[in-house]
Amino acid sequence: MDAFSQRFVSQKFSEYYASRSNTLSSPETLGQRELAFFLFKERLMVRHRSAINLNGLRRLIEDLQPSDVYYSCAYYENPEAEMNKKGWLGADLVFDIDADHIPTKCDKIHDEWTCKTCGFCGTGAQPEKCSKCGGQKFDTKTWPCERCIDSAKDETAKLIDMLEKDFGLSERDIHIFFSGHRGYHVHVENESVRVLDSIARKEMVDYITGLGLNLSRKEKAGSDGKALSRAFNLHEFGRYGRMKRDIRRFIEGATKDYLAAAGIKGRASTGILQYRQQVLEHCIEKGLWDSVRDVGDETWFKIAAYLTNLQISVIDTVVTTDIHRLIRMNGTLHGKSGLLKIEFPVKRLTAFDPFKEAVAFKEGTVKVSVSSAPEFRIGESMYGPYRNTIVELPTAAAVLLVCKGRADVVNE
Ligand SMILES: [Zn+2]
Ligand SMILES: [Zn+2]
Repeated sequence: MDAFSQRFVSQKFSEYYASRSNTLSSPETLGQRELAFFLFKERLMVRHRSAINLNGLRRLIEDLQPSDVYYSCAYYENPEAEMNKKGWLGADLVFDIDADHIPTKCDKIHDEWTCKTCGFCGTGAQPEKCSKCGGQKFDTKTWPCERCIDSAKDETAKLIDMLEKDFGLSERDIHIFFSGHRGYHVHVENESVRVLDSIARKEMVDYITGLGLNLSRKEKAGSDGKALSRAFNLHEFGRYGRMKRDIRRFIEGATKDYLAAAGIKGRASTGILQYRQQVLEHCIEKGLWDSVRDVGDETWFKIAAYLTNLQISVIDTVVTTDIHRLIRMNGTLHGKSGLLKIEFPVKRLTAFDPFKEAVAFKEGTVKVSVSSAPEFRIGESMYGPYRNTIVELPTAAAVLLVCKGRADVVNE
């Protein structure tokens, strides 16, 4: 971003906060949170600040003119003190689901990398080494792509389901936010989670990601001396109950193609499709996993591995286990997109449209010089793809391109 474009974006952000600062909404007990601000100008983080109320926060934003505003998930006695003197009182439980952690096929279309050593460039996820010079440092350009954000949405739905059904948290305690860039945040503000230490949080993360799930049971002989199936010790509760329900659902809806995707082919596949009812009643309900011909342990382990993989909620585990974590403030602008971090009701997750509801700049147009950008949507309109062109765009689209380093404002 050149200096002129930076001034332009900084000014747009300030105007937004001046005119619409009533959209700021404070987390519970704002006065006990550490506040942090990333500055446009110096590109540095100002930390260890605090405000007793929203007016105080507004004044800080006005003074500092930040590109990003953060607060601590932790509550402190002295939020402005240095780290070991803050007096930790507890922390909200936070989850970060970001498209960066989900492999999608479209990254080839919208992500770019350039080798910092030799300038060689390519599309998609950055390689480990530059194929031309062997360099390992890259400039990367990602994109808040609709399809990638939708895959993050699917993962968020799985996480919410586990928080409600397995951890017994109520919809009232769970807050969902669009992150303002490439994913979703889930915050749990509730007395019972506040005092969990990072080890307890790690246990929750392991449960959610399916780490340590042990599905095989000890081999033992039946009354006739024949070895019984080693597959599965599933009961109706918790993570194992979740697995049982998933296997049941998978078999109920199985087609030849679904089974093939899980690596089940040939006679095992035919067996499941031909004797579906028996498989459901005897294998799954009664736990007689080897009671249908050609459908043996190997098949069940394959299905379990496939479903576990699908089910793993791709959460950023570091965020959840860090009990001092700084997280983006609700109702503030994201410096990499100009979109808002915004809360919406849990039941609206499927319908939520970030490119409509998180758009901040709704007036005017700006002339920008675009280096490259994939096709994208703001509201109801599509823009791009662009390459080395000058174009006049609505402010939200222009700010997005400038923030993503894909364009500069034309200085006329
Ligand atoms: Zn290189
Ligand atoms: Zn994508």
